[in-house]
Amino acid sequence: MQPRAFGMLVLLVGVAFGGYGIISIVANQPEKFDSSKSQMTLLGRNGIGNWLDVQARNSERAQRRASGATMVGVGTIVLLIGLVVTTLSGRGSMAEGHEAPASVPAGAVRAMRYCTRCGAGVSQPEARFCASCGAAVVAGRDAPT
Ligand SMILES: [Zn+2]
Repeated sequence: MQPRAFGMLVLLVGVAFGGYGIISIVANQPEKFDSSKSQMTLLGRNGIGNWLDVQARNSERAQRRASGATMVGVGTIVLLIGLVVTTLSGRGSMAEGHEAPASVPAGAVRAMRYCTRCGAGVSQPEARFCASCGAAVVAGRDAPT
């Protein structure tokens, strides 16, 4: 797997993890005691039973919110790792792209000839004599032998 793809995957996992954590926090807000939801008994509304139920649910929700907050924290860290990996690998591929055009085209290298006496480069493909020392330049691949 490519580093950039791996970074993106880690980033997505972080987002999913953090998102799930946020949802679990939002979905588990404390429940308010509502006396109208108290069960009707022969002695009237069972307010204390309802209140105890609400308290029990709220402590459960508080635990879920705490684990949700942990997930948001872990998700954020994972997301940041993914972001760093993606950014670094992106920068790496950009540097590679920068190097490619800087290299001399293959045709230019083939056309270039060198004087056998002094070693000076002969820039003109059709030149017969060295511009530096005047020696006859060895025929190139396109010249008659
Ligand atoms: Zn020469």
